[in-house]
Amino acid sequence: MKVLIVGGGISGFFTAYTLAKRGIDRITIIEKSYIGAGSTGRCATGIRASFTSEEHVVLMREGIKLWKQYAESELGEYGLKYLQGGYVWIARKDETANLFKKLVSLHNSFGVPTRIIDIDELRERVPQINIDIVATAMLDPIAGKSYPFTTLYALFRACRNLGVEILTGVEAKKLIGKGDKIVSIETNRGSIEADVYVIAAGAESRDLLKTIGIELPIKNIPRHVLVTEAFNRAFDPLVIDWDTPGVPYIVQTAEGNFFIGRDIEEEAELSLYSQRIDFMPKALKPITQLFPFLKNLRVLRYWIG
Ligand SMILES: Cc1cc2nc3c(=O)[nH]c(=O)nc-3n(C[C@H](O)[C@H](O)[C@H](O)COP(=O)(O)OP(=O)(O)OC[C@H]3O[C@@H](n4cnc5c(N)ncnc54)[C@H](O)[C@@H]3O)c2cc1C
Repeated sequence: MKVLIVGGGISGFFTAYTLAKRGIDRITIIEKSYIGAGSTGRCATGIRASFTSEEHVVLMREGIKLWKQYAESELGEYGLKYLQGGYVWIARKDETANLFKKLVSLHNSFGVPTRIIDIDELRERVPQINIDIVATAMLDPIAGKSYPFTTLYALFRACRNLGVEILTGVEAKKLIGKGDKIVSIETNRGSIEADVYVIAAGAESRDLLKTIGIELPIKNIPRHVLVTEAFNRAFDPLVIDWDTPGVPYIVQTAEGNFFIGRDIEEEAELSLYSQRIDFMPKALKPITQLFPFLKNLRVLRYWIG
């Protein structure tokens, strides 16, 4: 059986890896740009189950089990890591304490061991935090992070060694359908046929499926993140500022750089190569209130995904 996967992000590579491990021996991934060029290479590394709906909590609880399992498997030898630094949710308002208690009880009822932590424990876990503006904090101890490129390249190497064909610079232009089946995909390098087609092209899956009349109800919502210069190891958890709209967050990479993100007013379909200059002050102001020591750190880069 020949499988053709469109998209060289985490979805495409994990699908290829899983199929290859199950014995499918003719798998091709086509990626129009470079590996990780989509959201995967632009993400902020965080992995958590502390969500606000049952479905999301349960899905991600199982996801975390898989991350740990894969990190201990051969993928770990290829470089995939799950770094369990936890998430710390910060509330600035006293009234958020009740909401955090409700969330803790939701998470705990599905086996996710979040808990409220006191100021001493917060100081221990995040020593640089400005406790003057913190009303309460919730810890998700099983949350963690994984670096997108090390993860993706672990999968890339594993897939390559399992015989998966990986073609970059090959763009799917049009799906060719016959009856209720796709029979080939037209690309910028000619037509490719397979028995099974997997469209893992991120938000662009919608445009591809439209070429055979399928409307995928997804929207391309931009996410913004910046990275600072490197700093000595400061803290392990990803810290999120719950009471500030757009929930700004900060996480330190293994190399010491900080990723700082915040959702700003949505401007759907913004190009990956455009910028919103107002993002910088919007993200940096709340984060430097929480972490005054960051005031003098330089921003290296900002991007959209
Ligand atoms: C700033 C930001 C922060 C984020 N932070 C987090 C986080 O902390 N935690 C988390 O879990 N998630 C986070 N996400 C979301 C996460 O990155 C995505 O859910 C995930 O990477 C999606 O992976 P994917 O493989 O489905 O899509 P993508 O990574 O977008 O991969 C799709 C690939 O398909 C390729 N492609 C598109 N069209 C074609 C075509 N026609 N032919 C061939 N190739 C094509 C693209 O170039 C791309 O490489 C974040 C996203 C962003 C942007």
